[in-house]
Amino acid sequence: MRTGKRSTVAESDSAQAGNRYERQLWMAHVGVSGQQKLSNASVLVVGAGGLGSPILLYLAAAGVGTIGIVDSDTVNLSNLNRQILYQTADIGQPKARVAKERLAALNPDVCVEDYSQQLDSSNATALFSAYSVVIDATDNYPTRYLLSDAAVLSDKPLFIGAVSGLHGLVLTVIPHRTPCFRCLYPRSPTAAMAHRERMRGILGTNPGIVGSIVAQNAVKYILGIGDWLAGRLLLIDGEGNRFEVVQVERDASCRACGDHPTITELVSLRTDPGQSSC
Ligand SMILES: [Zn+2]
Repeated sequence: MRTGKRSTVAESDSAQAGNRYERQLWMAHVGVSGQQKLSNASVLVVGAGGLGSPILLYLAAAGVGTIGIVDSDTVNLSNLNRQILYQTADIGQPKARVAKERLAALNPDVCVEDYSQQLDSSNATALFSAYSVVIDATDNYPTRYLLSDAAVLSDKPLFIGAVSGLHGLVLTVIPHRTPCFRCLYPRSPTAAMAHRERMRGILGTNPGIVGSIVAQNAVKYILGIGDWLAGRLLLIDGEGNRFEVVQVERDASCRACGDHPTITELVSLRTDPGQSSC
């Protein structure tokens, strides 16, 4: 479903008293040409939970022209400490559809596509083909590996955010130029390890911080400015307020993006029950 209508930056100027994008247009790095880049961009966000909430809101607010939302979940009460797209009255409603409505209300110039479905090996390639940038805002490992593999096979930039407790990581993958997720983590954690990690819980502000960094890097990538954390892993210790950036290298033996890749088509891994977008 498509909502909203595309408009040029100039139309947006004349339609409003003032300009929605005035403060970013003032930036030397943005200006009218940068705003047009954002308007022309299309970003697929997989996961509309704790990470996806700030990511989607900031992308829409910035004027990213087309935004896709993939999430098969419905809103439940325990989401609301961190998933700031949703309100109590939304409980039981599909997240992707509610998120689309919120973004359309925030910025009607943005086209929003909602996909109330789980991303898997049967639909990832088609979904990726419709967007120029993909964001991983999930918290389950099978989908995270699938997204990384799909990005490599589709040659699409992938912006990854991950959170647990008061910790987080951010990484950007520019396929065949910088390490993919498998280069860093060749083996997926066991289901038991993933379960223990999930049961550490999460403070709502943490995905807000990590998601905001991911969104900012995606916007900078579209604008062609600054550093995007491609090949540089940002590790966040929210408890100690420590931010560390680690240089990471492509693994020549990586099954997805190495010199002799063995992953040549997408295969869905077993999904950990009970895990969804954070
Ligand atoms: Zn790799």
